[in-house]
This record gives sequence, structure tokens and C-alpha cells, in this order.
Amino acid sequence: MKFTESERVQQEAEQYILGGVNSPSRSYKAVGGGAPVVMERGDGAYFYDADGNQYIDYLAAYGPIIAGHAHPHITEAINKAAETGILFGTPTKHEVTFAKMLQEAIPSLEKVRFVNSGTEAVMTTIRVARAYTKRDKIIKFAGCYHGHSDLVLVAAGSGPSQLGTPDSAGVPKSVAQEVITVPFNDIESFKEAVNHFSDQIAAVLVEPIVGNFGIVEPVSGFLEAVNDIAHANGSLVIYDEVITAFRFCYGGAQDMLGVKPDLTAFGKIIGGGLPIGAYGGRQDIMEQVAPLGKAYQAGTMAGNPLSMQAGIALLEVIKEEGTYDYLDRLGKQLEDGINALITEYEIPATINRLKGAMTIYFTTEKVTSYEQAENTDGELFARFFKLMLNQGINLAPSKYEAWFITIRHTEEDIKQTLLAVENSFKQLSL
Ligand code: PLP
Repeated sequence: MKFTESERVQQEAEQYILGGVNSPSRSYKAVGGGAPVVMERGDGAYFYDADGNQYIDYLAAYGPIIAGHAHPHITEAINKAAETGILFGTPTKHEVTFAKMLQEAIPSLEKVRFVNSGTEAVMTTIRVARAYTKRDKIIKFAGCYHGHSDLVLVAAGSGPSQLGTPDSAGVPKSVAQEVITVPFNDIESFKEAVNHFSDQIAAVLVEPIVGNFGIVEPVSGFLEAVNDIAHANGSLVIYDEVITAFRFCYGGAQDMLGVKPDLTAFGKIIGGGLPIGAYGGRQDIMEQVAPLGKAYQAGTMAGNPLSMQAGIALLEVIKEEGTYDYLDRLGKQLEDGINALITEYEIPATINRLKGAMTIYFTTEKVTSYEQAENTDGELFARFFKLMLNQGINLAPSKYEAWFITIRHTEEDIKQTLLAVENSFKQLSL
């Protein structure tokens, strides 16, 4: 495969766009560098780059493209929406239809508000929780990404009783001091942090199923204990379902797992590929938000007609009977196939999979914590990534990301992917 046009575009991009990319995860820095492939068009499970190479896509734009690229129903909805005006700065019926659909799917959303990204959604839930509890600190879990607002770019201190430190230049120390970061799946550390900071804790922010150090499920009882301990302390529970909502079932991870947060943040899938975020939850908590309450959140683009209609169309598509069984079936085919190859070629790798989302870790142990994910072999992943790319299989360029299967992938695509995995493993084991 040749990538000369991608390389040329990337060189040009670097003259105008900082780092040549509009989001750092798009660069190939984490997989040894090189020009990222520049995509031109997508169709179902495939996309095509500027050199005309075809790929089976498992990036799915980091999650949103669960219905595949250019799904006809979603494309039609976007076209129709564009023809009737793309932004009014007034309420539209589409916002109401979509909010109702979300609430029917996820009953904890007594009230909802639309914003423009997952970052905004999470940032606002934290503000609302602070307004409601009149407390300032939050607890979050190590390795979980919640967007790029100051409060969530905070690294752990040296233990559960320690305040955080900035995890990005430009985040004030004073802001980091409002955040305590503890290990996911470690209820004792969480308990220690809550006991130590007790009436200062406004909320705990958690991805109910982790998607950002690979796919990691909560151990049995973890989320229930987080809820009980937080609530006994007068703190709120915020779920970040930016990745998980509508990913594993029609609704949130909260419905699938039978746990209920006070507030939830959304993004990605619910926009059908257009920019979106949403947050919502208990009526009495949401009443903190302007115009009813004193916590301010606004947006020129919030609830824009294009994203609303794309989101509605996407939900209509994935609500179809059998969506999640299909994703699970293909996910299992992929997982079983790779596991057999891991054994055959004696590759030090393990897989975490839930339905149509999966991560391959280059380690021999089952990964349940961020520490383990950090300790997996990044160099081996980088070699695997490039070998797969050169065979027309597009993965996220990071050992921490998931593979996402779409409803447009087929058994044949999985078989082709397994052939590429086999070739890659052969080369890795040389
Ligand atoms: N929360 C989670 C769990 C995410 O994975 C992400 C993005 O990857 C975000 C929040 C931020 O969303 P956005 O990139 O739309 O700002």
C-alpha cells in the first residue's frame, strides 16, 4: 500500500494546523509516528483514503459511527435538515422529539439539556452537582478520560487521601486541588477518599464501563458500592456515558447494569456523527440550571437542528430489533478468532470485549485496572497497528483505545480482519 498523498496532505496540514491534526489522538505519535492516513470518503464499514486505499474501519470515529459511514437513513435526515435551515437560535420541535426519545430510553433523565460535545456535557454536570450540593470537590477514576476541561485533566496524587496535580500544562494547581483521583474497580480507595474529604465532595464522576483504557467492565458490586457510599456522604453520582450510551444496548450502561446515577453526560453516538453533547438527570438537581436556577450553561449551537435530526435518525436505526445481538455475534466471532491466533502464534495478548466493542492488550494478564493497561506493551501494539494498517484494517492509533464494530460490518469483514491479524501475528512472532 502506498500513502504518498496522505503524506503530502499531512505535510501541508502541518503548515497551517497546529501539529497537523485537530485532535491529538489522530496523530500517530503513540504508535511510533508517521503521517496519519487522510480519509476521503466512507461507506458502511469501509473508508477510503486520499491514495485510494480501502480500509475496514474499527475506529468508527472513536465511537459515534455505530451505524457505519454514510448510513442512508441518517444521510437523508441530515440532507432534509440542511434544506430547511440549519440554525435558528430558537427552540425547535426536533429538540423535544429527541429529548423525549432519550428519556424513554434512559429513565433517569427526568430532564435533559443539549450541548455540543462530551467535554461540555461532563463539565456542566460537574457545575450542576456543585451548585446543588454547595460543595466543590469531585472524585474521579484514574485513566478515565472525561474530555478536556480543566477539572478532568487532573492526575492522581500519591494516594486516595491526596489531592490531584495538573495533568496538562495550563491547568491551574488550584483547580487540580479540587479533584481526587482513585483507581477504578478499587472500592477501598474510593471509600478512603470519601471518608477523608467527606463534606467537601460534591460528586463522583465515573464511566460505568470504562472505554478509555480499553474496554474495562466494573467488577461485581463496584458501581452499587460507589452509589451507596457517595449518597451516604451527601455526594452526587455522575455517569459519563459519552462512550457507553447506546453502545451496548438501546439505552445507557446504567439500564444494562441496573444502576442509577443522579446525573449523566452524553456525546458521541447520540449525534449520529454530528457534533453533540447532552446531560440530564434528576429534576430537582437539573433545576439548578438557568433559566430556572443559578448555574449557568448556554450555547449558540446547543440543540442545533442538524445534530438533533441526525441523532433522531440514528436512534431510529439502532432501535431496530436485533442490533445489539448482531454486534455481539460479530464481536464474538472476532474475539474467538483472535484468541485462537494468540494461542497458535504464542502472542502475549489478551482481549476485553463487550458486545461490539473490544480491546486487545499486549500482556498475558486479564486487564481490570488502569495500572495494568499502562503496563501493557505499547511497542508491540505499535507494530501490530502498522501491520494491520498496511493490510487495510484501520484501528485507533493507541493501545488504550477500543475497536468498535458497526452494524454495517459483516461476517466476511471479520474473516478478512482475522486473516490480517494472522499475518500480523506471524510477523510479530518472527
Ligand atoms: N467522556 C468520555 C468517556 C470520552 O470518551 C470523551 C471523548 O473521547 C469525552 C468525554 C469527551 O467528549 P468530546 O470529545 O465530544 O468532547
